[in-house]
Amino acid sequence: MASQGTRRVMQEDLRAVEFETSEDVDVTPTFDNMNLREELLRGIYAYGFEKPSAIQQRAIKPIVKGRDVIAQAQSGTGKTATFSIAILQSLDTQMRETQALVLSPTRELANQIQKVVLALGDYMNVQCHSCIGGTNIGEDIRKLDYGQHVVSGTPGRVFDMIKRRNLRTRSIKMLVLDEADEMLNKGFKEQIYDVYRYLPPATQVCLISATLPHEILEMTNKFMTDPIRILVKRDELTLEGIKQFFVAVEREEWKFDTLCDLYDTLTITQAVIFCNTKRKVDWLTEKMREANFTVSSMHGDMPQKEREAIMKVFRAGDSRVLITTDVWARGIDVQQVSLVINYDLPNNRELYIHRIGRSGRFGRKGVAINFVKNDDIRILRDIEQYYSTQIDEMPMNVADLI
Ligand code: ADP
Repeated sequence: MASQGTRRVMQEDLRAVEFETSEDVDVTPTFDNMNLREELLRGIYAYGFEKPSAIQQRAIKPIVKGRDVIAQAQSGTGKTATFSIAILQSLDTQMRETQALVLSPTRELANQIQKVVLALGDYMNVQCHSCIGGTNIGEDIRKLDYGQHVVSGTPGRVFDMIKRRNLRTRSIKMLVLDEADEMLNKGFKEQIYDVYRYLPPATQVCLISATLPHEILEMTNKFMTDPIRILVKRDELTLEGIKQFFVAVEREEWKFDTLCDLYDTLTITQAVIFCNTKRKVDWLTEKMREANFTVSSMHGDMPQKEREAIMKVFRAGDSRVLITTDVWARGIDVQQVSLVINYDLPNNRELYIHRIGRSGRFGRKGVAINFVKNDDIRILRDIEQYYSTQIDEMPMNVADLI
């Protein structure tokens, strides 16, 4: 029964912990004070960053120092830039060998990280390759043979390239696991260990995530040495700036009409609609199109090329409504999204933050609307309580708030 499944997941979440930040973590309030190389500093400012975020103020220096680091901060707080800057600072660009490996759970995320590294390293002559499944292997091999300072990839393809010896690991100094809780979960764990076994024994390991459950923290001693823990606490990580609403629907069938009624509101800026399954995404997309609404959709079963094309169109603002699963929720950053619809409530609290976090990145305001069936209200109240936030019934003038 679905509701029982939900309850079980939520009970597991109760064990998610807020660890203490290690005592020896300093706060560096400016990029200028981080002893970064000139070309990197230039890249950071040219990218539009003025001041480091809380996690950047704390985590960049220890990573650059070579410490193993566990960094946890809410989605949208600048974690990607944190490890990207630290990696760029640690590179020797004179030799063209892979020195840092970043592993992510989704291809989009791996691509996005590659882009951030290249952008921040714009004045450094850095080679960064995105090594992901669903793309041409020959092209991967060619790029790797050319020599890449940084590789950002998904575990399967990366392992494949390591086994074929096209990705040579001897100069790798740093392994970053982004969305670490997901990466060390059942689905990916074995693959991560496969890759890890090929890395030099002294490789520095950094775990980055918005959420790190207890079980995951407990297993870190297997592959990390005296890690520094950095937590940007949840109360600094609120859903602040994001207005959250719910629409009560008695029956599942009513969600569709509710969504159609909201369509004009959705297209004011850009909106992402989350469903819990790929099938539902396909179904909803088809139904919206039948009703003559223009929507895009994306999920993990689509070919990589198609996923990339859809993301590109959406990022460019050429499509305004995207229907998707949680493959999208983790870490993907599209600035202009200011409205998130949970067509289905997410199956756990972390996913809620991952989905909604999208709309309020870096102080940007946003609106989230949750479609709730009768028996979902309990889950919504639980989320509300857990994050000490407020989710009101959607007002008539919701469009004015976007
Ligand atoms: P996370 O990895 O924690 O989800 P990102 O690194 O993707 O967060 O950052 C979220 C957004 O904030 C991105 O658009 C990024 O360019 C921007 N950003 C990150 N760090 C800064 C900063 N120091 N100043 C301004 N914007 C920043």
